[in-house]
Amino acid sequence: MTHLSIQNIHKSFGRAHALRGISFDVAPGEIVALLGPSGCGKSTLLSIIAGLEAPDQGQVFWEGASLAGIPPHRRGFGLMFQDFALFPHMDVYANVAFGLRMARLANDAIRPRLAEMLDLVGLAGFEGRDINTLSGGEQQRVALARALAPQPRLLMFDEPLGSLDRSLRERLIGDLHDILRRLHLTSIYVTHDQQEAFALADRVVVMNAGQVEQIGPPQEIYCAPRTPFVAQFLELANLLPADIREQDGGRVAHTAIGSFPIDAHWLGPAQLLIRPDAAQPGAQGPLVLHGTLQDLSFRGSLQRIWLNVNGTALTFDLPSTAALPPIGQEMALSLMPHQALQIFQQS
Ligand code: ADP
Ligand code: MG
Repeated sequence: MTHLSIQNIHKSFGRAHALRGISFDVAPGEIVALLGPSGCGKSTLLSIIAGLEAPDQGQVFWEGASLAGIPPHRRGFGLMFQDFALFPHMDVYANVAFGLRMARLANDAIRPRLAEMLDLVGLAGFEGRDINTLSGGEQQRVALARALAPQPRLLMFDEPLGSLDRSLRERLIGDLHDILRRLHLTSIYVTHDQQEAFALADRVVVMNAGQVEQIGPPQEIYCAPRTPFVAQFLELANLLPADIREQDGGRVAHTAIGSFPIDAHWLGPAQLLIRPDAAQPGAQGPLVLHGTLQDLSFRGSLQRIWLNVNGTALTFDLPSTAALPPIGQEMALSLMPHQALQIFQQS
């Protein structure tokens, strides 16, 4: 079964082609993240789903029925933005009750619903608090309670945590995940941050310049990026021009730093990805790189190194505990044979 179905959406603003044929479905209770760089069309797509903009071409369906011509307030969708747009002159109660008042719910019905919502977002008893006395994280929870209160059938988020610091973002993402799960609420979450998308979503839609690059569960996107763009966006940055040739009955990718046996069903120009997360120091195993340790950056849970191999700088993330030579010295790295190499056909 499908809740939301996006079918071949196109949208231009003057000469800017913001969306170029976007299609995907969202199942009931599913959390889908739209992930992509700034300007790739994420917010435009949300506006079209919400009914704030009309597509030039294509349609949005809810449970199989077209939403064309249905105004935003009759779609039953909720939206939450980065600048959560709380009303600063109202208290928490009035902010969260706003949507319910608009829906002409009686005060007697609003009060218990409100208490339930504040409890859900971890702000029980905050009804009377002045918005201006709340921390950024608390304001964010109020905005979430306000979005949840009218019981939307779809909830959409547009980079809602962008302005908060990292540890707070991580905690809110975890809480948001639990709340959406508990309510079995169909959701679309827009972000340019892969960590947020991975931590929250059942499936990720990676967008680039108004098009879908890849759709899949987080692990699949990360472990098997389908295009060089996706690999690069996920900071899997070692992409080398390669030429695929037949050799001893198999296929080999020839690059500036050597030749690598690969699985490919085509011959000719390609790009080889050497995954930064699939190497370890030492010269054991069938795939070994020799180079000069150019630079090192300690990141806590890992250490990122830059290795110069025949004039090409490659990046690798090694365990923090790995012993390394001084910068400027030679070292060997072993690549994990089944994970380290991925090949993309030149388009
Ligand atoms: P994202 O949310 O991924 O950063 P947007 O959907 O905001 O991307 O924008 C996609 C493209 O469409 C951008 O090039 C942006 O400048 C353009 N765009 C978005 N909205 C408008 C608008 N109202 N008028 C003109 N151009 C717009
Ligand atoms: Mg945006």
